[in-house]
Formats: sequence, structure tokens, C-alpha cells
Amino acid sequence: MGMSKERDMLSYDDYHIPKVCTNCGGVMIFKGVGEYQCEDCKAVDYDDYGKARLYIESHRGATASEIEEATGVKQRTIRHMLKEGRLEVTQDSKMFLRCEVCGKSIRFGRFCPECEINYHRHLEEKQRQKNIKMQGFGLGMEESSGEKRFKRDR
Ligand SMILES: [Zn+2]
Ligand SMILES: [Zn+2]
Repeated sequence: MGMSKERDMLSYDDYHIPKVCTNCGGVMIFKGVGEYQCEDCKAVDYDDYGKARLYIESHRGATASEIEEATGVKQRTIRHMLKEGRLEVTQDSKMFLRCEVCGKSIRFGRFCPECEINYHRHLEEKQRQKNIKMQGFGLGMEESSGEKRFKRDR
């Protein structure tokens, strides 16, 4: 795995998983979709994913900054979850995820459908050129810098 891949990933700690019950100190058990429950007093708590998800469910159309304000979940984490497809912006949302190429609002992922297609066309074209130039002079350096531009976070 390359460096850029690693930089793109958040560790589990970044989701602020509740491990100890704030009520009684008991062990928090994972219940699914970001929800945890104390095995002793049954108190329920959420990690960042659960908090953001819950908030979006009851506040459709919330922006990342509104979610951050209400839940304390960092916008960076929210955007990351959107990119990973763990969260999806609702249809009626004031979009807050943008295509990394053209800036158009998107619901999930990193590119809008058109740029996604263009991106693949671009890669295919690069590959074609590479195949042609392989015999003569290499295009290796240019290729890798072009890829980095697409992978750069935020
Ligand atoms: Zn407890
Ligand atoms: Zn786009």
C-alpha cells in the first residue's frame, strides 16, 4: 500500500468508539450501525458514525457544519464517511460533498458521474499513450504525478 492510501484512511480511534459506559463504567458492546450498549446498565451510546447517521435521519438536509455543531463529529470525519460510502447524503439535502474535479454536488464517493467517466477515460487514454510510447521513451513520471492529483484529499 502506498503512502497516499494510508493518509486517506482514518483509524478506528478517529470515530470515537465508546468503550466504557459513561454512566456506570461498564463495557460498551457493539450493537451495529454505530450503536453501542452498556452490558451492565444498558445505557446506549454512539460513535461518530452513529451520531452523524442519527442526526441525518432526523435532520434531512443537514450540512456537514450543522452536523458538526450538533453532534461534535468533525466535518473531516463526516466527509471521510461519505467518501467511503458509509454515509449517504439524502436526496433533499443541501449538498455538502463535492466532486473533486469539477466541484459539482454529489451524494457519495469522490467524483460526479461525468467526472468519474472522464477519469476512467483519462486513465484509459494514458494507458494507450503509455503502450504506444513504451517502445520509445517512457511516460512513467508524468503518469504518477497525474494520479496523485486525483487522489489528493480535500
Ligand atoms: Zn453502564
Ligand atoms: Zn465532476
